Amino acid sequence: MRSLQSRHHNNCPRCPVVGAEEIPVDEFYELLSLRFNVRIARELCRGHAPNLVNRRPLESWIEHARIDWEHVDHLPIALGPGIMATFPSGCGMPVIDGNHRAARALRKRHEFFAFVLDESETLELMRRSMVRSIADYYWERMLHSQPHPDDVSQGEKS
Ligand SMILES: [Zn+2]
Repeated sequence: MRSLQSRHHNNCPRCPVVGAEEIPVDEFYELLSLRFNVRIARELCRGHAPNLVNRRPLESWIEHARIDWEHVDHLPIALGPGIMATFPSGCGMPVIDGNHRAARALRKRHEFFAFVLDESETLELMRRSMVRSIADYYWERMLHSQPHPDDVSQGEKS
């Protein structure tokens, strides 16, 4: 018997499931051992003004991000700014929401804007997105680390 499979728009796993577009699901961005709940990130950046993101660091970030280029073409034309987090000790400013939007902006040579969570908001987000003691453990490790030229490349606000 064939199981009923949910079908995504454009047959793309990153696109919404047909008929379930309005059902809210928690979306997570994962970076190495870290997890960021995108819904909570959006809540934390309410009231922030978007920042223009510098093209050069964004390009090196996107080179390392997992971009599904087919999905880039599926994005609605008008989408809001992305979200960037801020790690302590210069450990980087990852784009945790809007990587495909950023990739499209780079390809079309458009500007890309993002809301930037500061360090305390980033720590709060991590604590609410993963086991708190694990979030604190990685935060402590970053706090005591020295920035290194081979670090994961990072986005950067202008
Ligand atoms: Zn798609």
